[in-house]
Amino acid sequence: MSMVQKYYLCRKFFYAMNFDRIFNRALSLEPLSLEEGVLLYEQAPTSELVFIANQLRQKFHPGNTVTWMIDRNINITNICISGCKFCNFHRKINGEGTYTTTFAEYKIKIEEMLQLGGNQLLIQGGMHPGYGLAFYTDLFSRLKSEFPGVRLHALGPPEIVHIARKERMSYREVLEKLIESGLDSLPGAGAEILCDRVRKEISPAKARTAEWLDVMAEAHKLGMVTSATMMFGHIETLGERVSHLIYLRDLQSLKPVSAPGFMAFIPWPIMSEGTELGKLIKLTPVLPIEYIRTIAISRIVLNNIPNIQASWLTIGKETAQVSLHGGANDLGSIMIEENVVSAAGASVKLSALEMQRTITEAGFQPQLRSQDYKFIDLPDVVEKYIT
Ligand code: SF4
Repeated sequence: MSMVQKYYLCRKFFYAMNFDRIFNRALSLEPLSLEEGVLLYEQAPTSELVFIANQLRQKFHPGNTVTWMIDRNINITNICISGCKFCNFHRKINGEGTYTTTFAEYKIKIEEMLQLGGNQLLIQGGMHPGYGLAFYTDLFSRLKSEFPGVRLHALGPPEIVHIARKERMSYREVLEKLIESGLDSLPGAGAEILCDRVRKEISPAKARTAEWLDVMAEAHKLGMVTSATMMFGHIETLGERVSHLIYLRDLQSLKPVSAPGFMAFIPWPIMSEGTELGKLIKLTPVLPIEYIRTIAISRIVLNNIPNIQASWLTIGKETAQVSLHGGANDLGSIMIEENVVSAAGASVKLSALEMQRTITEAGFQPQLRSQDYKFIDLPDVVEKYIT
């Protein structure tokens, strides 16, 4: 055997030993270090990552069930002062094509959603410079009084930071007022990558890492259901991705025992078609294999977040199906209306029937769920056109 062959054999042996040690720690739900997470991301064979992630998924969710939900996205307005470089959706206040959704439009959209069997809304910004706390509390109160059964999964840490700055209130005070007026749960929107080097480059006017985390910490103390996201595949390093996961894991470990905290983690690759960032930098698209590895790493590093969601909207059905074998246990919503990532190139659409089929074809049992991950029966209207 040549010296070079010996060197590679020793190196392979060294990594295999290290992976075994790290995988054993992961399977015992021990928190991995940044270095361990990066080593796995950079060097571990995909087959092993997927195998371990699937074992961990079985610890959280024994059996064969994959959850999904029906909700409708509604954007409050496309006027936004944040100006994120990856966003094609926002408009300047005096720009062309601006809108704010009227209450009559909410009513039509909600009626449509109810007819399709959904009862949950995902309501998100832009950050309109003129809209303070009263705008949102009025909106949520009106929606709840007109549609008391509809759950509001709305805004996100950057919007809470924006409102708190505008009103000179604490995050807790803003959240309390929003909860009083009908906010049910807080999406983990606007996380992108929780690293200020990255945030300064791609979304300089948005909440910084500490602000995003501080809002979520307050939401957890108030007992809110929240989620966490990661938009990756742009200017971040693998280390910054793993560090993002560790921030989330560490925050989750601080939540009150009785609070749900982060119920789910949803990673998705950046959609940059036609965006300012896409024009500034030639971004290499995230390949399916990288997405699958990212799902697996997420499951392995996030030892205290129960649900990992594959983002079919951005990666397509097939990659989402494979992800279900590598750590993911949820396919999210059929998304009756989605405007933000669709404006930057995402074009996949799924009906309730297709969602059920996608899960079944992947070898799993589909199960409808609520925003807080409770299993619910299929509404009659859905059952009728599925069976
Ligand atoms: S991603 Fe959201 S916060 Fe950023 S510019 Fe677009 S609408 Fe505004």
